[in-house]
Amino acid sequence: MARRATAVFLACLYTLGVAPAGARASAAPAGGSAHCAADDATSRAASHTSGHVAVRRRGPGGLTHAVEPHEPDPAEVARMEEDLRRRLSARPGGGYVPGADSAAVGPGVPMAPVATATPGTPAASGVPGGAGTATQAGEEIRVPMWVHIIRDGALGLPDSAVTRQVATLNAAYSGSLGGVDTHVRFVLRGVTHTTDRQWFRDPLGHEAAMKKRLHIGGQDTLNLYVAQLGELVLGYATYPYWYADDPDLDGVVIDWRSVPGGPLREFDKGFTAVHEIGHWLGLLHTFENGCQTPGDAVDDTPFEAYPTTGCPARKDSCSATGDDPLHNYMDYGQDRCMREFTSGQAVRIRQMWDAYRRPGAPGALKGQSAATPLTTAQPM
Ligand SMILES: [Zn+2]
Repeated sequence: MARRATAVFLACLYTLGVAPAGARASAAPAGGSAHCAADDATSRAASHTSGHVAVRRRGPGGLTHAVEPHEPDPAEVARMEEDLRRRLSARPGGGYVPGADSAAVGPGVPMAPVATATPGTPAASGVPGGAGTATQAGEEIRVPMWVHIIRDGALGLPDSAVTRQVATLNAAYSGSLGGVDTHVRFVLRGVTHTTDRQWFRDPLGHEAAMKKRLHIGGQDTLNLYVAQLGELVLGYATYPYWYADDPDLDGVVIDWRSVPGGPLREFDKGFTAVHEIGHWLGLLHTFENGCQTPGDAVDDTPFEAYPTTGCPARKDSCSATGDDPLHNYMDYGQDRCMREFTSGQAVRIRQMWDAYRRPGAPGALKGQSAATPLTTAQPM
């Protein structure tokens, strides 16, 4: 409750344009605005349907992003990290090895033909190294992907934009735009189409109904819902750790205007999906925990006190070594500012994939969360 109240308050400050970027706690505001009321209603609706949502937002006017209202709080992040740590230590030779996945760039994955889909149809997994095996460093993680287009009449994502968005995902995750090759590739399995004015206008408020109707596949299948989000919000995602508790809610929602070539100024390169899918794969914001250890739990992204807005030439918000990673996809800069994942993030993605998302991953099973002791007998 406190987390949500704080988030709503901060969102209001951003709407008013008076908050210091990244402020996580300060005195209550003296007044509100229509924006605040709308945001509060959105937040309540989202909390009602799911407490497990992380949101990328766009700020008003010259600002870029506000604080995410459903971002996991520090205690939840700590639980996620502890669960991952236990799963890694339980497997033979397990443990975090920074840079272990910085192998040479591999070949891209050709696009799969777009199929027509019937919602609720299970999708076959295209992931190599099937149940019971961990992936090897450098091995491609092929993510089967379904795109669910929600429309209101003629308004919404055109089909022609789907291939552009998937291509951007593969470009970003392969390092062809900058940074490392994470060895994650997205393979489009199909597209569903739904015409629903309410879902289109307020996917956050109708999240449970929408996802239960449309969600396809298991923990390894990315479901990308494309609708229109309300004031300030660009997209939101669920984390791998949450899958076991509510599989139907797993997935990513983005604003259709944020796709490559879309009409959303400064957020029109398709990096909203890159960012949100980063969360879906288990990455935290680069400014997670501010200047405090463990930061974002990745060794090669310098600490960052608060999110980046716009695209400054340079930013160094913590006394620890290293400028802020303002070009990282997991910061909050404008799309023109984003261009890279790091080796450490690639390692974390693979660890998360092995623990929670690959077929047979024990972390995807209910009752196998951090509270349950793990044994080496469990396949990882
Ligand atoms: Zn985010």
